[in-house]
Amino acid sequence: MAAGEEKIMFPSGGSSTICDQQVISWQNHFQQGTLAQALRSHWKKQVPLICSPLYLPGNQPLEEDETRKSLLFPLELFICGGEPQEVFSQLKNLDNPRQLCGKVFKVGEPTYSCRDCGMDPTCVLCIECFQKSTHKTHRYKMSTSGGGGYCDCGDEEAWRGHPFCDIHQVGAVADEDQDPILVLPEGLRLRTEAVLMCAVPYILQIICWQDLETLPADLEPENKEDTYCCMLYNDEVHTYDQVIKSLNRALDCTQKEAVDFATTVDRERGRR
Ligand SMILES: [Zn+2]
Ligand SMILES: [Zn+2]
Ligand SMILES: [Zn+2]
Repeated sequence: MAAGEEKIMFPSGGSSTICDQQVISWQNHFQQGTLAQALRSHWKKQVPLICSPLYLPGNQPLEEDETRKSLLFPLELFICGGEPQEVFSQLKNLDNPRQLCGKVFKVGEPTYSCRDCGMDPTCVLCIECFQKSTHKTHRYKMSTSGGGGYCDCGDEEAWRGHPFCDIHQVGAVADEDQDPILVLPEGLRLRTEAVLMCAVPYILQIICWQDLETLPADLEPENKEDTYCCMLYNDEVHTYDQVIKSLNRALDCTQKEAVDFATTVDRERGRR
């Protein structure tokens, strides 16, 4: 399977939610090389909804929630190609393991010493290291920690032989010069690059945008109608005809519509 063609495992278990459909559509755009346009079009619709003045300062948590739900989570899902929390914790395992374990024991945790290989009886392994070490085939002794000590796996001075378990052996031979990015799964790496190459310029562009009246051309809302509303102030000075004329001009409507509006307003007010 080529990079980018891997199947997305949705947390919802299917492609039913709006978020899942969004991610599938991004996946298609990604393969066609049009992800940037698709993301910007998504932001064009979603960002004003979240950042509009409707969300007053008192509604901060709502804004945070919405940002997470409609802006960040879909991107995480797209990048990860599956439940983000799961993928992120799998990624942790790709980290070059360290050469030394050093795990600190809690009270009651099991510790393992090896009579064949330990320099002295205080040299111990944690359970993870022990199970991945050759000492489990030696004359070992299991104890319970009183708390505070740490695992000696990887400390070559603590052992006469086999100082590394399988995990920390990898750390001992890992190439420190290796580019950590190359350790990432290819699909995830390419999707992350594609998202960042679009998100970072977008953020910069919006932060540095000086013109308060317009937005970058492709981010202008499609429907700019109904952005304003016309309010009538009832005074004792203007005549019915003047109101109709003003409505006619302000709303750019027909004479009949202006008459209807004026009549409706007059009638509604008359009812109170
Ligand atoms: Zn350990
Ligand atoms: Zn170890
Ligand atoms: Zn041993």
